[in-house]
Amino acid sequence: MTVQEIETDHELDVYSRRDIVLVQGEGCILYDEQGKAYLDCASNVGVSLLGYGNEQIARAIYKQYMTLPSCYNIFYNDVRARLTQKLIDITPQGLSRVFYCNSGTEAVEAALKCARFTTQKSDIICAVRGFHGKTLGALGATWNIHYKTSMGPVPPGYVHVPFNNFEKLNAAVTADTAAILLEVIQGEGGIRVGDLSFFEKVRALCDTEGIVLILDEVQTGFGRTGAMFGCEHYVTPDILCLAKGIAGGVPMGAMMCKEFIHIPKHSHTSTFGGNPLACAAALASIAIIEEQKLIQKCAENGEYFVHALSRLDAPVIKEIRGMGLMIGVELYEKAGPYVQALMERGILVLLAGKYVIRLLPPLIISRKEIDHAVHTMAEVLTSY
Ligand code: PLP
Repeated sequence: MTVQEIETDHELDVYSRRDIVLVQGEGCILYDEQGKAYLDCASNVGVSLLGYGNEQIARAIYKQYMTLPSCYNIFYNDVRARLTQKLIDITPQGLSRVFYCNSGTEAVEAALKCARFTTQKSDIICAVRGFHGKTLGALGATWNIHYKTSMGPVPPGYVHVPFNNFEKLNAAVTADTAAILLEVIQGEGGIRVGDLSFFEKVRALCDTEGIVLILDEVQTGFGRTGAMFGCEHYVTPDILCLAKGIAGGVPMGAMMCKEFIHIPKHSHTSTFGGNPLACAAALASIAIIEEQKLIQKCAENGEYFVHALSRLDAPVIKEIRGMGLMIGVELYEKAGPYVQALMERGILVLLAGKYVIRLLPPLIISRKEIDHAVHTMAEVLTSY
């Protein structure tokens, strides 16, 4: 049986798979079974910030595995403590507590429970087109109804209002509102960039009404937007949700919060959360982001990428938007066939909704690689 046959026949059929088998990566290049090279402008949906085959991270993981890979949270651990200190140092002031988990949706689950317990209120205001994961609690906050249909009762208490519309959001606040949960740039929702004035008003509203502001930076964290965290362009949340690029490709999530956020002992825990292996990978990954000045490079290369794309003479393009290396190219037509054509020509990109090509390349992408991506996009977008 081929790889495709085994995965198609025996794994739960929940992903739309593209018909290539990826087996190796180096830098920003991925290789399939036949040895064909692909320039990765998807980073496994934002995970592979440092690309592939980074020896510094590999060495850190090997060393930690040989030293102590697991250490359940009933014991203190040196590496976890170092990561905790590092996260507190690099996130906006006030976010001084960390809960470790293993994915984005888990970071959101933790945030929702903490907000509800802290406020002793139930309702969460979220945004139309928002995406926060697919476990039941986070699913309530995720907007797309297709993910919820026939899934039995999703926990109640979620209200969705249009993104960037403060009046509608303000009107949705009630005495039961525990939290407002938003992305600063909606990723899955089509690379929709938040307005600064909207976020400033939301922050002020939360302060006056005693509502917890949760920012979901699972996709925008760790340099993606040209700042270490997207919220640096906006406002400081009470709770920050992190995952994806946090640990150089090793699965990990984290929820960070201010001191007033609390939850009773034992009410939220995770067996793998904060295991030293993932913590060592995260420390190595953050060190590389800092040492190689990848945040500044991301801001500059993001501008370069958008500028080059905006010069394409492709009438199919409706709008180009984004921040840093989180770029959306909205088309007048469905983007799926273009994504497929790009893959056939050796460029991997993502969809964000039906009409948007989403570009999330590793932060280490070079100008030459960006030129190659733009050149190929020009061919594909102008030839259909
Ligand atoms: N939140 C945001 C903003 C995301 O983009 C995602 C995943 O794409 C999630 C949460 C869920 O993360 P995970 O798939 O790791 O559960």
